Amino acid sequence: MSVTASTQPVDVPLLIGGRFETSAADRHGDVFNPSTGQVQARVPLCGEADVDRAVRAAADAQPAWGETPAVERARVMFRFRERLHARFEELAALVTREHGKTAAEARAEMQRGIEMVEFAAGIPSLLMGQALENIASSVDCETSRHPVGVCAGITPFNFPSMVPLWMFPVAITCGNTFVLKPSEKVPLSAVMLGELLVEAGLPDGVFNIVHGDKTVVDALLTHPLVKAISFVGSTAVAKHVYETGTANGKRVQAAGGAKNHLIIMPDAELDQVVSALQSSAFGCAGERCMAGSLAVPVGRIADDLVEGLCQAGKRMKVGPTDGQADVQMGPLVTAAHRDRVSGYLEVAASEGAEVALDGRAFDLPSDGFLLGPSVVDRVQPEMRLAKEEIFGPVLSVVRVDDLDQALELGKQCPYGNGASIFTRSGWAAREFKRSFNAGMIGINVGVPAPMAWFPFTGWNKSFFGDLHIQGVEGVQFYTQQKMTMTRWFRSSADSAADPIWKSQAGGS
Ligand code: NAD
Repeated sequence: MSVTASTQPVDVPLLIGGRFETSAADRHGDVFNPSTGQVQARVPLCGEADVDRAVRAAADAQPAWGETPAVERARVMFRFRERLHARFEELAALVTREHGKTAAEARAEMQRGIEMVEFAAGIPSLLMGQALENIASSVDCETSRHPVGVCAGITPFNFPSMVPLWMFPVAITCGNTFVLKPSEKVPLSAVMLGELLVEAGLPDGVFNIVHGDKTVVDALLTHPLVKAISFVGSTAVAKHVYETGTANGKRVQAAGGAKNHLIIMPDAELDQVVSALQSSAFGCAGERCMAGSLAVPVGRIADDLVEGLCQAGKRMKVGPTDGQADVQMGPLVTAAHRDRVSGYLEVAASEGAEVALDGRAFDLPSDGFLLGPSVVDRVQPEMRLAKEEIFGPVLSVVRVDDLDQALELGKQCPYGNGASIFTRSGWAAREFKRSFNAGMIGINVGVPAPMAWFPFTGWNKSFFGDLHIQGVEGVQFYTQQKMTMTRWFRSSADSAADPIWKSQAGGS
């Protein structure tokens, strides 16, 4: 079943045991095209029985897949990558159609996702163990890496393709089998990834998809055959996933929400900063866990910065993205999310902050879930806009007098995903890098999101677990180590008269 061909609302299929099938679920959700507000698909909200079938299909497939040589598993990733390239524009258009990103943002998402597949194709060298000979007389010691079994992935709406690709290529190439529960708001890209995996020759049952909401997530968290859970989403759900998954004996990596601070020192180059902040705060309509959402100008630069941001925001071309090439900022994912984000502008006014650029005042078509960019100045550290994740195109500005105040503001932040500083001072950059309370640091970079080869190192309430997603930590998460200690004795029969048993090295 193709998820790209239909112009009518389609029933989004499950993928279980290599077969795409229509669910018998009695609950469904709507999948919108955020540019038009139209319903384009119906997603089944599955129950425990569908989860159980998918997990059992994965469990049945795992022993043979785990025994498949690592280089052959990696070759599936090479073929998958070729198919992703061949269908690149279609995949990017699908991301735009279900999420609302601009064409350029959707292509960038696909590119980052493909890099995960390229990383996974090189995994055999990361699966190698270590060895030390003669740790005692005639005793050798070695480690080897083994799959953990059935893994599950639960993903958010904001990267319909890239976040699933953070997980299953690595898990699968390590020899595990996988059950994906994509966001019910954007399930179509995940299904297309499943189609391309099947085309790439992945054996039946190695990759499965079940759609749904909390019911499916909780069934995965408690299923005895699921050994590892990867989660990306909001902090409240990440905490629930971590606590429930680990209480049920699973390893869990759970990435949560964020409130990313962008510190602007008075010596920073204003034009460069405005451009970097504009794309950090308003790119992907602010629906990025690495989006800058709190600008912290230090000292005299504040007035010029706010003015520059308002002018840049006003000039942005905001509109529907589906089929539009020149739009700079698209809609939010749903009407409910757009209304939640614009509600923060009312909160700002009621708390005494200044809405310097009001996204609600943009002249926009009413069909899609559109909202213009906003800049809210003179936010105080205790206000909700300074503390809460908004996840939309609203940039709050907290003015401070010196770098210490900016660092202190970071310490009060419960999250710890990313933070950046803009400066020409090596000293300020170094102080910031060493002491800011976040796991991903940018220096004159608006969105310090790491590539596939590096871990996605959120801190505090932005991450629950031990081993992060991406990079070598991802491989460690999806494998368990075995240590083997070996001692061989020369038997008395061997050491008898026959000279072939004489040791060259003279060992015993
Ligand atoms: P969400 O937490 O609402 O949903 C994420 C997933 O959890 C979805 O698949 C959803 O079906 C499921 N879910 C929702 N409520 C649940 C519940 N009560 N119990 C069990 N499962 C539940 O997140 P979202 O709105 O889809 O995505 C936006 C969030 O994701 C933001 O907070 C953003 O910062 C975060 N995010 C974090 C990262 C990161 O790397 N830290 C990356 C991308 C997005």
